Amino acid sequence: MVQSSVLGFPRMGANRELKKANEAYWADKLSRDELLKEGKRLRLEHWKLQKDAGVDVIPSNDFAFYDHILDHIQLFNAIPERYTKHNLNKLDEYFAMGRGHQRDGVDVPSLEMVKWFDSNYHYVKPTFQNGQTFKLASEPKPVVEFLEAKEAGIVTRPVLIGPVSFLALGKADRGQSVDPISLLDKLIPVYVELLEKLKAAGAETVQIDEPVLVLDLADKIKQAFKPAYEKLVGANLPKIVLATYFGDIVHNFDVFPAIQNLHGLHIDLVRHPEQLEAVIGKLGPNQVLSAGVVDGRNIWKTNFKRAIEIVETAIQKLGKDRVIVATSSSLLHTPHSLESEKKLPEEVKDWFSFATQKTAEVVVIAKAVTDGPASVREALEANAKSIQARASSERTNNKAVKERQAKVTAADHERKSPFPERYAQQKTHLSLPLFPTTTIGSFPQTKDIRIQRNKFTKGEITAEEYEKFIEKEIEEVVKIQEELDLDVFVHGEPERNDMVQYFGERLDGYVFTTHGWVQSYGSRCVRPPIIVGDISRPAPMTVKESQYAASISKKPMKGMLTGPITCLRWSFPRDDVHQSVQAQQLALAIRDEVLDLEAAGVYVIQVDEPALREGLPLRAGTEREKYLSWAVDSFKLSVAGVQDSTQIHSHFCYSEFQDFFHAIAALDADVLSIENSKSDAKLLKVFEDKAYPRHIGPGVYDIHSPRVPSEEEIKERIAEMLVYLRPEQLWVNPDCGLKTRQWKETKAALTNMVNAAKFYRQKY
Ligand code: GLN
Ligand code: ZN
Repeated sequence: MVQSSVLGFPRMGANRELKKANEAYWADKLSRDELLKEGKRLRLEHWKLQKDAGVDVIPSNDFAFYDHILDHIQLFNAIPERYTKHNLNKLDEYFAMGRGHQRDGVDVPSLEMVKWFDSNYHYVKPTFQNGQTFKLASEPKPVVEFLEAKEAGIVTRPVLIGPVSFLALGKADRGQSVDPISLLDKLIPVYVELLEKLKAAGAETVQIDEPVLVLDLADKIKQAFKPAYEKLVGANLPKIVLATYFGDIVHNFDVFPAIQNLHGLHIDLVRHPEQLEAVIGKLGPNQVLSAGVVDGRNIWKTNFKRAIEIVETAIQKLGKDRVIVATSSSLLHTPHSLESEKKLPEEVKDWFSFATQKTAEVVVIAKAVTDGPASVREALEANAKSIQARASSERTNNKAVKERQAKVTAADHERKSPFPERYAQQKTHLSLPLFPTTTIGSFPQTKDIRIQRNKFTKGEITAEEYEKFIEKEIEEVVKIQEELDLDVFVHGEPERNDMVQYFGERLDGYVFTTHGWVQSYGSRCVRPPIIVGDISRPAPMTVKESQYAASISKKPMKGMLTGPITCLRWSFPRDDVHQSVQAQQLALAIRDEVLDLEAAGVYVIQVDEPALREGLPLRAGTEREKYLSWAVDSFKLSVAGVQDSTQIHSHFCYSEFQDFFHAIAALDADVLSIENSKSDAKLLKVFEDKAYPRHIGPGVYDIHSPRVPSEEEIKERIAEMLVYLRPEQLWVNPDCGLKTRQWKETKAALTNMVNAAKFYRQKY
């Protein structure tokens, strides 16, 4: 019989109960016991939900109050002393590592948090000391939760992060030099102890995640698999299913001798179905294959026909008892349930499947291949109908969009003249001084702005009233920028809630959920817009506000748009056409907006692309270069239509370009503004080394705190930048995100910034 399996379930609950409980606990509005109870309730609810759906292999220890890697940090007692020395209770110590702790005389910042592979989830980075030791927690969470489920009559498969990934995803603590992977020998006995306890508690099988296997691995990491997994096999230990996801593992086949003895192997067949045959060829003689055919990263209904074909291929080679039907990864990256969505167009809702629905999908597929298609005929027919309806829907077949895409030429991606000629025109057209000053787009979003926006959304004020309010806000920020004597103004973005949703709501091809929350980090959830069809722009999106702002400003006004890659990456993309096609559609829509802005008298236009880097495929090589090529093309297509005298800016929230500098250079943006105040100015060296010809505005001060930087400090910062950048190419601006600040410190800081720029203007 072919079993069905889920690799992990979202933790938040149907109504983000976990977020609410956590935040109430942090605000002293919920007791520790109440929080623990709520966690327990949610776990049970999610186990039951999967059990009722008929899932054979249900995960435990996939729950976490904050983050599952943080759970393991505490489980193995890999806790830096700065967190243990205050004798906080275990829960507070845990949250202290996740989000910092500042009360009762204790003041300790959080551990570093980083993106989980190429998802929008963030994990807490394990942080090791020289001489690091490990010790199993006295009541190990995986054992506690396994027993908890067992008591409720549900036998689960505990999920652990694997020892190699746990170390490889970590780093040495500040001031420490330890190489994490060198700690393997010390860590393995703790895993053995934990596995023994799980076995004693009744766990027959565990899922051990080694997602680093999809990355390009250094030899010493690859070599760690053998000593690690040799010791994790034994009569007193549960069987191990080793899970990989988000990529293929073919390039790491030399690790196989180390894992061929394990009970089973899970691979992601949504992202990389082509790895199936090669992996089957590598399996040990009795090894089980867990086939990840239900997408854990997106919201689309699984195409049953295709999934069943893949699973059947595996069964032909391995037999039914050696194949498991599974989600491609944990369902952590999908919203809880489609049932909560009351406002989606019915047509579109029928195409979706959230975590709860995906849980049912693995069951149907497993049944279809076990008992034959007739046993689930209705489900298969309904699925085929949905897939067919989506494929033939007008939303996914917009003729006008397709025709336009077919006509795109190479020339459409190029500006009319090379940069030196453009710049000569821009300089006079915009009367820009040396060291021009500007900001990145938003200005403080006061309470009043949020109140008015809310009233407008709820229909409590009319569109005209809201528009008037926005105009007044724009007038104010223009006046302030005049007083500050900035050189290129912005309208302040008072009308925008979010940089992708704002555009998505104005484009055809997008839909929005009301409950489609996905955990981003800790208690923070995001609700990504969904690209359901071909994208087009029915009407201008930002022209009214920018045009008004330009009309009342004596200085150039910078129009502000979100770029195609960021719109794509911060949404759930379609899975029926390549992402490059969606990016090009977005680019064409933005191109129209850019040209409308120019026609409306906006001659500086910034297209933000903060998500460009996070879209980078996990492995270097062809796949990454292909991505960069279409990503760069889509940016260029979105802006290249303008006159030479119109200045194109782009913005990135970081300065680490070393890995893909050629792509940043290929954007051909006249000005790049980048977040830099918290980074080493040395990161700018690459611009010097590569003789980058165009202009750059590295953030000269950190806007993330209310602290006002002095003029001297900013001058010093500029001096550091001038080591690597030529005076003619340097813009002076803060980092991005002023919308989160108050006006008081914003004005004070920008006054100092403008004075610092003027100082250098005198000097050169
Ligand atoms: N223009 C946006 C702002 O200043 C940019 C936000 C971002 O970089 N993430 O708010
Ligand atoms: Zn930014």
